[in-house]
Amino acid sequence: MTSTTTKKHTNLYENVGLQFNKAADLIQLDPDIRTILSKTENEIIVHFPVKMDNGHIEMFTGYRVQHNNVLGPFKGGLRFHPQVDINEVRALATWMTWKSAIAGIPFGGGKGGIQIDPSKYSAHELERISRRFTFALGSNIGPEYDIPAPDVNTNAQIMAWILDTYLSTLPATQRNSSVHVVTGKPIASGGSLGRDKATGQGVVFHILEWAKENNFNLEGAKYIVQGFGNVGSWSARILKPYGAILIAVEDHTGAIACEAGIDPEALAQHVAANGGVAGFPGTTPIDHETFLKTNAEIFIPAALENQITEETADWLKVKLVAEGANGPTDPDGDAILQKKGIALIPDILCNSGGVVVSYFEWLQNKRSEFWDLEEVDYKLKKKMVNAYHKVSEIARQHKTDFRTAAYVVALQALEKVYKERGLFP
Ligand code: NAD
Repeated sequence: MTSTTTKKHTNLYENVGLQFNKAADLIQLDPDIRTILSKTENEIIVHFPVKMDNGHIEMFTGYRVQHNNVLGPFKGGLRFHPQVDINEVRALATWMTWKSAIAGIPFGGGKGGIQIDPSKYSAHELERISRRFTFALGSNIGPEYDIPAPDVNTNAQIMAWILDTYLSTLPATQRNSSVHVVTGKPIASGGSLGRDKATGQGVVFHILEWAKENNFNLEGAKYIVQGFGNVGSWSARILKPYGAILIAVEDHTGAIACEAGIDPEALAQHVAANGGVAGFPGTTPIDHETFLKTNAEIFIPAALENQITEETADWLKVKLVAEGANGPTDPDGDAILQKKGIALIPDILCNSGGVVVSYFEWLQNKRSEFWDLEEVDYKLKKKMVNAYHKVSEIARQHKTDFRTAAYVVALQALEKVYKERGLFP
């Protein structure tokens, strides 16, 4: 056991610090800029009351953390999950700053959420919770200031409720020019074509670039996916036409496998009807360890954080991990994957398709435009391919891993702007 594998890395924000320091040391980042970027800018915690269906009031705790906005407005998702806490949101907000900088879009980093298990609430209760959270955040969000989007257990419908509540708090003259306060909206309410699949689409663009760069043939390659929500299901569906074969999937209802292949379209319909992958006809239920030990070429973690750790990294038999989720690999897991020669496309590069198409949605709203899907996909591909090769080039130059290289791209972009602008006063 090496010194990097003696501590359990369960605190996501500490993990971000370790990743950041490794890259900052490598490029000898200006110490003042290091000081600025190592802290989040604003941390908002709100406790707000909501009337339940039974007439009683329950109090909820919501978070919005704003890490940095030197490149543009704070940007990042809202998550509804029992594990949401201040350290998780700090980490996710910080990753958003790096992600936008790597993708080359004019946004900073923010993230938020509510500590709840949404399955315990009715649709009407979730609507009131979303609306009261928006009201409690007040002017801490705004179309030119901080722009939320969907994340775990939130979706286009929740964005529409947030939009409606936010606009209702504005003077009538400002409402029509403020629809870009959230992205990931339903199309009729100002959403963009291609936003629902954007993160999965971006994951696949990155896998394609990696395959090209490494002379890897996707035809017949086997892949496994953890999480079959927005990111996992779209990644799985978009990868299949390239000839890759989905052979195992895990979500919160269990894991399933089928060596002959699982049809991701049919599985998505099963999940929509049954709430999870368990019981999908033609597959065998397997346990978590068996799922991670599956003989396959590609693993797409697209669920929650800290899945590839000191314990589980050793189980993986794949050639490539393409991180659809945020923070699925902790620093111990990273070190083990590198030792085993498993390639990794890091979250801050791999899953940036979502924020890029959110940026396209934001632009369309500001310009009162509506782009067709081909235009969105074309522009997304260009951003993803550019970002991939920027990171790959830095990895070669510095003889470092892809995660550290991705950090270098982000830190150099931020350092440049701070040096040009200086610090007030
Ligand atoms: P989602 O709510 O649509 O799906 C989450 C999935 O994770 C579900 O299939 C759920 O069953 C599964 N899951 C939950 N607990 C699990 C467990 N213990 N074991 C296995 N599976 C489990 O969420 P999403 O939007 O697809 O987000 C997934 C990940 O991708 C998150 O890390 C999120 O931050 C990241 N991400 C999402 C977007 C986006 O555009 N939605 C963009 C970038 C990154």
